[in-house]
Amino acid sequence: MKTIGLIGGMSWESTQTYYRLINQNVREQLGGLHSAKVVLYSLDFAEIEVLQRNGDWEGTEKILISAAQSVKAGGADFLLICTNTMHKVAPQVQQASNMPLLHIADATAKALKQDGVTSVGLLGTRFTMEQTFYRERLEQQDISVIIPDDNERDAVHRIIYEELCRGIINPDSKVAYLDIIGSLAASGAQAVILGCTEINLLIQASDTQVALYDTTEIHAAQAVELALK
Ligand code: GLU
Repeated sequence: MKTIGLIGGMSWESTQTYYRLINQNVREQLGGLHSAKVVLYSLDFAEIEVLQRNGDWEGTEKILISAAQSVKAGGADFLLICTNTMHKVAPQVQQASNMPLLHIADATAKALKQDGVTSVGLLGTRFTMEQTFYRERLEQQDISVIIPDDNERDAVHRIIYEELCRGIINPDSKVAYLDIIGSLAASGAQAVILGCTEINLLIQASDTQVALYDTTEIHAAQAVELALK
């Protein structure tokens, strides 16, 4: 079994989901007392969030590169960045650490392609929804991306930082998210990507008829596949 390297803490609310899913998956596949080999470097999200808000992506890059180097020194064979947003600096982190990186958007594109989805709605932070670093990886796989309108993006972004990353689950926010998922489907999305690793704390597949692609679940499952290959 290969050792999975995780850069987490962005936020830790979703890193604990990663850790649980990765271990459950290994146990399902190998049985008995088997569990995953993991090296986790968990960052202080407050430091990252300030840099994001100020557009200081180089600052975030330095922190993530140093974390990746620690993960590598800890014995990891490959790397996951446990957040969609911070894939903004994934190419630089991969290059500087010289480690194989399982990119969350590529993992998601693979799952969408397997199911024949060619048009998808994207929910995530404003950075993920509005910038090119994420959607272009999907578009390169011939998947067209629909994002919510400006007011809706505002709500989706705010709920991530003010609630989900702080462990707050608010029923009104759930209603708001479900409405937005409904409008994305009405605009032609065959499915919706939960493109922020905390959204599954609020929304589950059983809450809507629209097909959901949870990036945390997909990323964790493909990490295990890679580790056991
Ligand atoms: N975990 C979130 C994501 O998947 C947001 C936190 C962050 O900005 O890294 O994008």
